[in-house]
Formats: sequence, structure tokens, C-alpha cells
Amino acid sequence: MTGLEDAVVRPGPLLGQQISTVLGLTTGKRMAKLGLHTVGQLLRHYPRRYARHGQMTDLASLTAKEHVTVMARVAQATVRTTRTGGALMNVEITDGASRLGLVFFGKSKGALRYHEGRLTPGVEGLFSGEVGTDKLNGRPQLAHPTYRLIGVDVEDEAEGIEETRRPIPLYPASAAVPTEHIEKAVRAILPLLTPQDVPDPLPAELLARRELPELLGALRALHRPEDDDEIRSAQERLKFEEAFVLQAELARRRSRVAREGAVARPPRDGGIRTAFDARLPFTLTEGQQRVGAELSAELAGERPMQRLLQGEVGSGKTVVALRAMLQVVDAGGQAALLAPTEVLAAQHERTLRTLLGELGEAGMLGGADDATRITLLTGSQSAAVRRKALAEAASGAAGIVVGTHALLSEHVQFADLGLVVVDEQHRFGVEQRDTLRAKARSTPHLLVMTATPIPRTVAMTVFGDLETSVLDQVPAGRAEVVTHVVPAGNDRWMQRTWQRVREEVAAGGRAYIVCARIDPDAKDDDGAELVPDDGPARRPLRAVLEVAEQLTDSPELAGLPVGVLHGRMTPEEKERALADFAAGTVPVLVSTTVVEVGVDVPAATVMVVLDADRFGVSQLHQLRGRIGRGSKPGVCLLVADAFPGSPADTRLRTLAETRDGFRLAAVDLELRREGDVLGAAQSGGATSLRLLRVTRDADVIEEARVEARSVVAADPELERHPDLLAAIDVLLDGEREEFLDRT
Ligand code: ADP
Ligand code: MG
Repeated sequence: MTGLEDAVVRPGPLLGQQISTVLGLTTGKRMAKLGLHTVGQLLRHYPRRYARHGQMTDLASLTAKEHVTVMARVAQATVRTTRTGGALMNVEITDGASRLGLVFFGKSKGALRYHEGRLTPGVEGLFSGEVGTDKLNGRPQLAHPTYRLIGVDVEDEAEGIEETRRPIPLYPASAAVPTEHIEKAVRAILPLLTPQDVPDPLPAELLARRELPELLGALRALHRPEDDDEIRSAQERLKFEEAFVLQAELARRRSRVAREGAVARPPRDGGIRTAFDARLPFTLTEGQQRVGAELSAELAGERPMQRLLQGEVGSGKTVVALRAMLQVVDAGGQAALLAPTEVLAAQHERTLRTLLGELGEAGMLGGADDATRITLLTGSQSAAVRRKALAEAASGAAGIVVGTHALLSEHVQFADLGLVVVDEQHRFGVEQRDTLRAKARSTPHLLVMTATPIPRTVAMTVFGDLETSVLDQVPAGRAEVVTHVVPAGNDRWMQRTWQRVREEVAAGGRAYIVCARIDPDAKDDDGAELVPDDGPARRPLRAVLEVAEQLTDSPELAGLPVGVLHGRMTPEEKERALADFAAGTVPVLVSTTVVEVGVDVPAATVMVVLDADRFGVSQLHQLRGRIGRGSKPGVCLLVADAFPGSPADTRLRTLAETRDGFRLAAVDLELRREGDVLGAAQSGGATSLRLLRVTRDADVIEEARVEARSVVAADPELERHPDLLAAIDVLLDGEREEFLDRT
């Protein structure tokens, strides 16, 4: 451990220093393999679990090829020379019931003497290595494991006794960097730390009030606990800290926008919205009215609205958004509606046009007096069309501009942008929202809509800077959709599936056939969120182009026009395919998950999802939302190869049982790994959420949010909380930034 001297003379908190500077190059290089470079990163590399003296690992449950650390006792050890003149040491360790072999090779018996002297029968230890196979008898074994013997690898007897008492931290490790090495490095650091080295992001007042340990104490307890109680209280504090820092950042963003101020867009009696309400062919649901009133009041205020509207598929979000847009138009402003794809943007424009009728035809023959104009702006428009659209947005002639991210390009100007509506939030980030804001003279109001039901805890974390409204009913008279799971391997069932498609079409319906891929040879999948295969070896995923061909030739569907829709088609081709499908000239549409969001063809009554076992719950729920949109009942057939009782089977059964999006979202969260909840950026890495689980820690998140908001309310830019600011900076570093920007 050279470098200790450096640490003493070097100024600044130890946390920011390189591990190699403090603990030497060898340790520094080792830890770098785990992505740990600074002392701070090492300290934030928390133990995954703890081993306890006398609590043996179940050796019968090890999985081949896994890197494991097991607590066991040495049962026997033998050393012998091999035919080639080398030496071999076989050790059997036991958990009291099962046994596991360890093997060490050496040039000579002498070379193995070190292990021989230590691995004597009766000794207990933690052994780490990759589970391999003993070539002679096929049993699992660890070759050249690293190990740490309990009560042996210590300075003196007192420490030996103490060690048998303490929980032993087990770190996320790898074959190259076993847990003992990490533990050793951490143990070398801990005594060097003073409170000045470890600034605490949690305000002292808060710590005292909530009776939480301060950061240094918590880190010591976590890495080198006396007992289980210490671990628990340290974890509780660190978890709270994670939630608090995140919520503080979200609160700060919120408060910034709130301080910016917006132009008030109060409702106007006798305006276009009143006229629109009068011509609506249906009555608004209670939820639509309630949310409508919320939005109306906020638009009338001088603080920018920042609202997330969650609503089940088919709950009628579009009408709610349109009424909000019309209020802004009535007040002399413009509204922009952003859709995630060109297909959806075009569809939104058509929908709005239909809903508005003559109210959307300002300046045209037959347009109503109070009318406005809807303009579509997408990236693939011809230069002439685009020029016209740009002019309408810039002059203010267009009250409503619908588009994709093309709306964010520099060339797009608005006369007076008052409201931005974003459909399907998860594809737009904060930065993009900011770009749109920058196009307005003052901060426009913001409405974000999502059909993906988001449990409250996730909403608080991921969408923490938005207020939430929920549309929890679907309009009355909405048709039933029954869901069945069809075993892919059963020919009779498959035949029946295609017959059903034919019957639905014969009765005037349309059929979606959804595949995970576009092309059998290429792996492009149009954003299908596939879950890992947990079944046996199986045939490749079905692909749109292949399936469309097979269905055209199949006896069941012979003579029926079959269309395709996928991301490799041009926008015109896609539009065309959807239009033919909607009109019924091509009643069967084989597609990728491009139909997942927002596609609205009320005549569609049947959906067949191939390889359904490979799709996530939420995505299947979204897909299923494409049928049963009209008055006729729908049927959703999930074709799958899932073992009874497997996770895939559980997912599909749950889907078949319920259409309650919130229940499904909860199931989905339970079935997914945490990392997937917040997106790929959250899985692993040196800066991700470590202890906080948005699925389980609702209370912690809720409490942290209240605390964070009150801190930010008193000190909006956190000038009096430099340590909290520093923690936010760390949080925003690298991948974390990406994650927050998705909100
Ligand atoms: P989503 O929330 O999935 O975006 P939409 O806004 O597309 O739902 O609405 C789905 C369908 O329901 C549309 O055809 C829409 O015109 C219709 N709709 C909306 N509100 C009502 C209502 N209150 N009563 C009957 N139909 C409605
Ligand atoms: Mg919609």
C-alpha cells in the first residue's frame, strides 16, 4: 500500500481521489476492472448481501458457469503428483449436506503447500470462483477459487473471534475481481476517513429529525457491520438518501419552470371550444370532465402547467387534449401536438380534423366563423408542403400544429406557442421539451399523455417533475375483448386461430397479426421490447415478411388480401397500408409493434400476436388496446411457446385474465428486473440507484419527496446545500443524465 503518504499530503476530501493514489496501483487497477476509480465510487460499491459465520451456502443449488461465493467447511484435502510431473490438490468442501469440489494445480507439490497448510479439514471459509465441471466425474467444482478463511486471515486471535461474530460483506464481484479483494480495499480505506472526507447530502436538521445515521457512519456500518441492526439502519439511511437526492433534483426543475411564468390562457365563453363541445357526438366521461376542468384552470394561470395525463388505452385522451388546445386557441395562442412517429402524427391530424369538422377549416370554404386551422408538419413532407406548413405555424394561421420531432427543428417558428401536448411521453425527453419551450416567447404550458399505466411510485420517480392526472374509465359502450393463449406447437389450435381471423373478416372485422421482427434474416424489430427467452431451445422469432407470405398461401386465409406494416416502409407506404386496412380493402395486416401506440381502427376485432411469450406485459397490453375500439367485441389470441408455470406463462395468463392496465403494470414491474423499470441506463454502472427500488419503496420515495420539496421551497437553487448539490451532480453524471432526460 504505497501511496498512503500521498493521501496524507494531498488536499481535498478523500472521496474524490483515485483509488490507485490512496491504495496503490495494484488495487487501483483491480478496482478499475469493476468501473471503480475513485475512493467515493469504491465506498458506494455496496455489499450485495452478507455471509454469516455458521450459515452455510446450499451447495446443491449452484448453477453452472456462475461466479459464486459460498460459505462452507473443508471436509477433506489431498495432494498428489500428476503423470506429467505437476501436482494437483483436491479439496472437498461441505455445507453439512452436499459437497463441492475445489481443485488447485501446481508445478510441484511444494507449490501447493500454501493451500495445503490452510485448507485443513474443519476450517470454515468463503470460497469464490466460477462453477465448472470436474472432468472425471461430471460434478460441479471450482478451479482455483479465491478464498477467505473465517477467523484465520486475521491479525490476531481477538480479531479472529470478532470476525466470527460479524456479518461478512459480499460484494458484486467478478471472476477477475473477487469479493475478498473489494472487501480488502474497502477495509483499507475506512480508517482513513474523517467526516470532512464524506460530505453528507442530507441536511443535518433532517438527519436529526428522522433519526438517521450520518453518511460516514452509515458507510462504515454497511461495509463493516457489527450486526444486522447496523446493516438495516445503514441501508435505510442510504436508501432514503437516494430517493431524496433524486427528488431534490426533480423539485428543483419543477420550481425553476414554475418561476419562469407563463402566459395565462383563460377559457372564453362562446369561443371555438364552446362550439366544439356543442358538436361532440358523445358526452364526455366523468373523468374527461374532471381532467378537463383541471387543465382548464391551470391553463388560465400564470404558472406553466406541467402535467402528465395517464389514461388507459381508449380512455379518450385525445379529446381531452384537443379541448385544452382549443382553450389556448380561444385565448389567441397556438398549440403543438407531438407524436412519436409520422404515422401517429398523420393519424392525429386526421382525427383532430374529423373531430373539429368545419371548426378546423379556417380560411377555407365552409369553414366556421370561429374556426382555426390544423397543420401537419413532418420530416418527410415535400419541400413545398413543408414550406406552407412552416408559414402557417410562423404566421399563427395554424392554431394547432401536429408533428413529430421535426417540430423541434430550428426552422420551425411559432407566432405564439401557448401549449405543447406530447403524446406517449416515453419517447420524448426533457431536452426536447426545452427546445420546444425555447420556441415560445414565454414558457408554454405542457401536457404529456401516456397510455402506459405507471404505478404511482414510478410516476413520482421517473416523472417526478410533472403533476399527474388519471383518466381511469373508458367511455361507456366500449366493447369487450377476450384473450386466449394459444400453444404455438398445437396445429389444430393454430388452424383454428386462422379460421377465426377469417370469420372476423367475413363479419366485417379487421385482423392484426403482430410479429416480433420484420425480416427473418435481419434482426430489426421495430422496437419490440422482447424479454429474454426462458423456454427451451426453439425456432427463430416469426417475422412480418415471412408470415405475410405464408398466410397469403395458407388454406385458411386463401383469397384474403394480406398487407404488411413495419418500420422499414416509407411514411407514404405506411399511411397507405393503414388506410387500406381501415377501409377494409386489405383486412388482414401483418405488422411489427409499430401498431402498438395510438393506431385507431375501430373496425379491428381480432389480433393475433405471434411469439407472445417473448413480449413484455405492458407491450402486449398496448397492442391489445388496438382492438375492441368500436362497438364489436374483440378477441386477442396470444400464440406462445410457454412452459406451464414459467414466467412467460404467468405473464400471458395474467393478460388473459384482466384488462386493468394498472394491475398489469404492477405485475409487469414485479416480473421485470428493477433495471428495466427505469430503462437500460439504470441497470448497473457506477452511478445508478443502488438500494432504492421504485417497485417496493413507495413510502420512502413519498417521504423523500415531501422533504425534498420543502428544502427546495426554502432554497430553490440549493445554494445553502452545497453537499446536496454535489450529490445531484454525481447523480446527473453520465448515464444518470440520460435517465433523467427521458422524463
Ligand atoms: P386514447 O386515450 O387511447 O388516446 P382516444 O382519445 O383515441 O383514446 O379515444 C378512443 C376512441 O374513443 C376515439 O374514437 C374517441 O373518439 C372515442 N371517445 C373519446 N371520448 C369518448 C366518450 N366520452 N364517449 C364515447 N367515445 C369517446
Ligand atoms: Mg391516443
